[in-house]
Formats: sequence, structure tokens, C-alpha cells
Amino acid sequence: MRVNIDEIKEAGLDRTWDVTPAQLDEMLAGDRSGFRARGPAHVEARLEKLERRIRVRADARAELTAACGRCLLPVSVDLPVEFELTLVAAEARAGAGSAARDGNKGPVGGSFAPDDAEEETYAGKVIDLDPIVREQLVLALPGYPVCKESCKGLCPVCGANLNDRECGCDRHVPDPRWAGLKNVKL
Ligand SMILES: [Zn+2]
Ligand SMILES: [Zn+2]
Repeated sequence: MRVNIDEIKEAGLDRTWDVTPAQLDEMLAGDRSGFRARGPAHVEARLEKLERRIRVRADARAELTAACGRCLLPVSVDLPVEFELTLVAAEARAGAGSAARDGNKGPVGGSFAPDDAEEETYAGKVIDLDPIVREQLVLALPGYPVCKESCKGLCPVCGANLNDRECGCDRHVPDPRWAGLKNVKL
């Protein structure tokens, strides 16, 4: 979704759009947790302009699927993605930097220092919101999807899904941290 900043009037600009499953899969391709799109992701964004700064607030919902990290069965995840950030015109930021360098040597850490954590720069007149949505989506992904918190996973010996049945294998793996104690004569 591209927005020309001239379209953002004083009252702000609301934009809603769908990220198609194909686009969503592309956004997720670099992530290792194996999430895939189950459907389109609906995004609602509000943009406000204040001089050379653009405030973006967005609310999105992505319907995703991944393999359970324990039993490998498919898990459906409805992931809310909410974020708020400020885009600063690249030229404005460069100007502010040189002004600070040339300016008086007042107290260190003045209140005009931009907060890099929440600000990103944009150049020109057109803002592309897709890379921002992608970044926020990847940040919101749970690292280790599970079908349920109590998922017992697969038997490491025979591969049976232990949620379905107890296979009866001996799965006892000696803990290497305690191995030394076997030789201790009490
Ligand atoms: Zn599971
Ligand atoms: Zn087994």
C-alpha cells in the first residue's frame, strides 16, 4: 500500500486494505517459524501529518497456519498486529542533525534528540506501508507455535502422537547433568 503524503490532510487519512495470501507468504518467507497464510490479512491504518512527520497507527489481523512445534499438526493462529510509529522526512532529519552540530553546546541529550526506536525515515512524497507491515508482522509472530499448551508431542522413539495414545516406548533419557551421580557411593 503506497500513500502519497499530499493525500494526508489535516483530518488525517484512513486506509484499509487486504494483504493477499500470496503477499503474506512472501512477507513470511524469511521467517524460520514456518508460518504460512490461511487467508488475506486485513489492515486498517490511520495516517496523520505534522509538519515533516507522519504518524502511522495500524491494526491488522493475519490468519496464519504453522506446524505445532511439538506434534507437527497444523495450528491455526489469528495474529493481531498493532503498531504505531512516526516517519520522519529524511531531509528534515539530515537538517536537524547539522543544526545540532552547528548549534550551541548546551546540555547533552536535549529533548530534541529523535527517538530512533520508534522513528523511521521516508524520502520523497510516497510512503510504502508494505515493508512496515511486514516488519511488524514478523515481530508479532510467536516464535514457537504449539497446538495447545498441554501438547505432549511425538514419541522420540516411534514417532506416535502422544496426544492420541500412549505408545508404551521406553523414552527415559538419562539427564547428563546427573550422570556423574551414578558413580557416587552413598
Ligand atoms: Zn501439538
Ligand atoms: Zn513410542
